Amino acid sequence: MKITVVGCAGSFPNAASAASCYLLEAEGFRLVIDMGNGAFGALQRYVSFDEIDAVCLSHLHGDHCLDLGAFAIARHYAPGGPRPPVPVYGPRGTAERLAPVFGLVADELADRFTIRELKPGPAAIGPFAITTEHMNHPVETFGFRVEHQGWTLAYSADTGESDALVRLARDVDLMLCEASFLDDPGNTPDVHLSARQAGGHAAKAGARDLVLTHLVAMNDPARSLAEAAGVFSGPVSLAAPGKVFGPGAL
Ligand SMILES: [Zn+2]
Ligand SMILES: [Zn+2]
Repeated sequence: MKITVVGCAGSFPNAASAASCYLLEAEGFRLVIDMGNGAFGALQRYVSFDEIDAVCLSHLHGDHCLDLGAFAIARHYAPGGPRPPVPVYGPRGTAERLAPVFGLVADELADRFTIRELKPGPAAIGPFAITTEHMNHPVETFGFRVEHQGWTLAYSADTGESDALVRLARDVDLMLCEASFLDDPGNTPDVHLSARQAGGHAAKAGARDLVLTHLVAMNDPARSLAEAAGVFSGPVSLAAPGKVFGPGAL
């Protein structure tokens, strides 16, 4: 499995990065997890929009799903005619929520995408064995554990403190964990994690490596790293656009 960070900006895109988007590749299959605002342009540095086999949306906040609209337009108006629908896995209400973004009603979206509702539990998407659980966020949000040929990734999506995240990340090779906040007693609970909390979850789960993501531009990244490293003894790094992870890449 090869994981490319397409966008890792938390909550909104910034000058250096699109919002959340990760490209997972194995056996020629290309799965995009999240397609936040700004991501579709950046994604085309790594893959043509014709070559994307499936999309998973962790939740329906704009910084995780809005560029699906750009993807739909590109496929519909591509030279040679509209491309066949791509499977899009998302929370309940994905079609109803996203159709107005394209100026469509939910049924018309079926021409562009095959929308499939995510439910907690195991699923196979292409060559990937995926397990999802509900995260601790104000809207329905899924975290993912993705396994391919014995190598495992956990992705937190957006979450506050969560035992489900610890379960998803149990003994994973790589935990890609959101760290929107810096440690502060005034942080709103049950929305996002601080870098220290991300490190705490990785330690509890026994993750081998920790990559902090969903990084908010106004935070000092050195402080985020130091917070996580204070509670997690394994390697910790920051996600950045273009960084590649996977077996042999760490
Ligand atoms: Zn977010
Ligand atoms: Zn969110």
